[in-house]
Amino acid sequence: MTTPTVTTIDHWIQGARVPGTSGRTAPVHDPATGRQTGEVALASAAEVDAAVKTAAAASREWRTSSLSKRAAVLFAFRELLHTHTDELAAIVTAEHGKVLSDAVGEIARGLENVEFATGVPQLLKGGFSEQAASGVDVYSIRQPLGVVAGITPFNFPVMVPLWMCANAIACGNTFVLKPSEKDPSASLFLAELWKRAGLPDGVFTVVHGDKEAVDALLDHDDVAAISFVGSTPIARYIYERGTANGKRVQALGGAKNHALVLPDADIDMAADAIVSAAYGAAGERCMALSVAVAVGGIGDELVRAVSDRLPALKVGPGSAEGTDMGPLITAEHRDKVAGYVAEGAAAGATVVVDGREQDVPTDGFFLGMTLLDGVTPDMTVYRDEIFGPVLSVVRVDTYDEGLALINRNQYANGTAIFTRDGGAARRFQNEVEVGMVGINVPIPVPVAYYSFGGWKDSLFGDTHMYGPEGISFYTRGKVVTQRWPDPATSTVDLGFPRTR
Ligand code: NAD
Repeated sequence: MTTPTVTTIDHWIQGARVPGTSGRTAPVHDPATGRQTGEVALASAAEVDAAVKTAAAASREWRTSSLSKRAAVLFAFRELLHTHTDELAAIVTAEHGKVLSDAVGEIARGLENVEFATGVPQLLKGGFSEQAASGVDVYSIRQPLGVVAGITPFNFPVMVPLWMCANAIACGNTFVLKPSEKDPSASLFLAELWKRAGLPDGVFTVVHGDKEAVDALLDHDDVAAISFVGSTPIARYIYERGTANGKRVQALGGAKNHALVLPDADIDMAADAIVSAAYGAAGERCMALSVAVAVGGIGDELVRAVSDRLPALKVGPGSAEGTDMGPLITAEHRDKVAGYVAEGAAAGATVVVDGREQDVPTDGFFLGMTLLDGVTPDMTVYRDEIFGPVLSVVRVDTYDEGLALINRNQYANGTAIFTRDGGAARRFQNEVEVGMVGINVPIPVPVAYYSFGGWKDSLFGDTHMYGPEGISFYTRGKVVTQRWPDPATSTVDLGFPRTR
């Protein structure tokens, strides 16, 4: 029997892999086999400090680089991401577990942000008002912040870093990424591609780590801004500590996304959409639909349509052909999700399909798909973000009751309505208190030229991520008011007549 190789996962500082020196590491697993495949370095505060210093030094030159030079690097980076998508997707699947097609999709959604950022010469154009007062012109410019940091979750190890770093770097900042320690390898691959694209050393840095590294970034005087994506308790913490230290912070948190299914909905369309949005990536998406709110008499039909679709879905390793759903990220998380199913059943929900009883691979962190009916707002399966392949159906009598339920929820990341009625959809998009709304679209992640963000406990800070708000977050505005002496008053011969 051969012993499986365990790869050492280093930091990326000053354009090269740098081994950790803290003596602390964390294991990285292949969730499809349960085997340890990597050992990631966990940075100490001193290592973070050294990394940030290299980013600060690189910032002095990068902030003065021309817009066309930055755009050229971004165009090259885009091409490299395209060419290496399959390789990068395999890295994502090996550490996250999601199916390969989903990993490819994640890269495509991240790439959109690189494409958006290639337009930086246009995006950073300021305004100009000639003759605001007599002989006075006023104009605005946007300047980079300096060193900015991104702290990212396990569930999108490529897309979420790209949400941040493409715009941050395009705006002339240097970027320090602290990726999730659960699937850290993709960030090193991104670093290699940035280097090959011509990005100067020190502009993109990766420090791996846990709370110690995060706290060091939050407290570091040279870090001007923090972008965070992860769970709500950590997002709140990041926002409070980062802003207390005078930093600009955008911290995106967890979610509990509802689909409102009206009695006139196209039930096949709604069921297809809800199944893929609830169970895709094993429910480990911040935009996953985890609650279907069935309005009026549509509950039985919806539950039947969803449960009829589940037996056809194949659970297995994400790298295997024909797999629809991979494993969860860790054994602990799998057990926690299974625990929620038990709690739901004990609280009186009907377990229509029980993921714990499905025939799934026994190696690895697999759990089948669960469908719960008759869920009520007091149950933990309704209240908590489960972040697993569990869909709860809540039945309500009216649109107003469904809307009030959604608006009462502490989370407000995404939501979707399924209906054939344009007026009802229009009313919903106006009345629902949620940041991103889908109309017969289950996962309404905005394209890169809009911005992404929820409301309430799904976002701390006031700036959404990427798109126009990303450009605004990563730059500071400056307004210049200028007046020049009238050339007519000059005593130097300027080569033209003094009077007009
Ligand atoms: P997490 O909050 O556990 O971790 C996110 C990051 O914070 C990681 O880099 C981690 O190392 C760091 N971290 C963890 N504990 C910390 C602590 N005590 N102090 C400082 N830093 C800490 O989240 P996760 O489990 O990696 O990701 C899943 C969560 O992310 C879900 O709640 C999901 O909804 C959320 N998420 C939200 C969005 C969004 O756009 N709103 C997108 C993706 C994921």
